[in-house]
Amino acid sequence: MSDAVPADLKRLVRRRARRRCEYCLLPEGLGFITFHIEHCISQKHDGPTVAENLALACPACNAFKGTDVAGLDPQEQAPVPLFNPRLHAWEEHFRQDDFLIVGLTAVGRVTARLLRMNDPDRILDRFDADRNDA
Ligand SMILES: [Zn+2]
Repeated sequence: MSDAVPADLKRLVRRRARRRCEYCLLPEGLGFITFHIEHCISQKHDGPTVAENLALACPACNAFKGTDVAGLDPQEQAPVPLFNPRLHAWEEHFRQDDFLIVGLTAVGRVTARLLRMNDPDRILDRFDADRNDA
């Protein structure tokens, strides 16, 4: 988006996230891909560029999320807000089952599906990250 995030705010967001994607938990720093500073509530929906509305996101999560703030839960057929790392605790909405990310709540299910967290190449990324960690 047009509003640039100031460098000190970028540093704060990276440090706070411990250099992991705040959606799929992929660690930054593998390969040459720089993670994005993402607006939890997008600027399209008047989300401000402040620490309380920013998150670190891998390029895939950021791209699939886009400017969306909600999705349709297939189980409830109702709109559900997307996971917001500034408002929600990851462990309450997701669990990791080996390298699969399982949504535990409507918020978790909708976010995992919309952000395509379990596409085969994404599962492989998490597998590779885990092996690099060891
Ligand atoms: Zn991610």
